[in-house]
Order: sequence, then C-alpha cells, then structure tokens
Amino acid sequence: MRTFSEYLRDMLSGIRSLLSGLAITWKELWTKKVTRQYPENRDTLVISERFRAELVMPHDENNEHACTACGICQINCPNGTIKVISRTTETADGKKKKELDRYVYNLGTCTFCNLCVITCPSDAIVFSNNFENATFTREKLVKQLNHEGSRLQEKKPIKKAENETEKDSQTA
Ligand code: SF4
Ligand code: SF4
Repeated sequence: MRTFSEYLRDMLSGIRSLLSGLAITWKELWTKKVTRQYPENRDTLVISERFRAELVMPHDENNEHACTACGICQINCPNGTIKVISRTTETADGKKKKELDRYVYNLGTCTFCNLCVITCPSDAIVFSNNFENATFTREKLVKQLNHEGSRLQEKKPIKKAENETEKDSQTA
C-alpha cells in the first residue's frame, strides 16, 4: 500500500510535468508561424526546381522533341512505368527508320528515382516540378508525353542545359 508521502510525490511530479508542457505551449503561441496556407498561396508558392513531380518530354516551338524511341529509359525503369511505342517509317530515299509513336508514362507507379532521365542519351525527358497532379481516377495518371503530331527534332536536343544541370547534381 502506498504511503501518503509517495502519493504527494507523484502528485507533485504530475503537476511539474503539466507545467512544463504548458510552458512549451505558451512559447509556441508566440513563435512566428511557418505553416503555408496552400492553396490560398498558390500565386506565391515557391517549389524547388529540383523537386521531381512529373516526368515530361519538352517540345520546341515546332512541336519537335528529342526522343529517338531507343527504349533505354524503359529498360532502366525499375517498375515498368514507361512504355515506349515506336513505329517504322520509310524515308524519301527508301530507308527504314524507327520513330516514336507514343511515349506512355504512368505517374501513379513512378517512384521519381530519375533513372530514366539520367540514362536517356538524347536528353529527351526531364522532371517538371508541377506537383498538382491529384485526380479521382488512376487512369488519368497514365499520360502520353509526346504531343499529337510531334516528331523528332533534327538539331541539338532541347533542354540540354537544364538536363546537364540535373545530371551534374545527381553525380555530385
Ligand atoms: S526518352 Fe530518351 S531513353 Fe527514352 S526512348 Fe526516348 S531517347 Fe530513348
Ligand atoms: S523516375 Fe524512375 S520510376 Fe519514374 S519513370 Fe523514371 S525510371 Fe521509372
């Protein structure tokens, strides 16, 4: 059976614990708030450029991209998130040529590991930091990255500078 002094000691310990908790609460009451009021602050919200939100395929003003449909990104993707569907066309001089038909990306299964971007030899894909991708159906997370009617660009791959920066940061 507990003695009266033990009971008193436990009670004082409880009061001390309660007061130390209240002291923290009081201190935090006056601390500057850091909570961001999203989505109200959408116009001023700053998302880090390196944040990987969604894989995209940049196109230039001529609706041209840099993807050669080589399939390396698909092979390197660890969970089958990318499907590169190609078609064979014939050039003016009668040669057969493989070109991109559809580049399908499933945002719902992507782990944002960046392996596809790092290993693409043409710098044809990058990660955008557009994070607002919530949807009510999973099907909407499956996206075609090449635009309708787009084709392979003839010159230097676009967005090369940005990709190099991204790759440098990966290897640093
Ligand atoms: S995105 Fe790059 S790695 Fe993937 S198929 Fe196109 S060129 Fe090849
Ligand atoms: S970031 Fe990783 S998981 Fe996502 S598509 Fe690229 S390789 Fe696949």
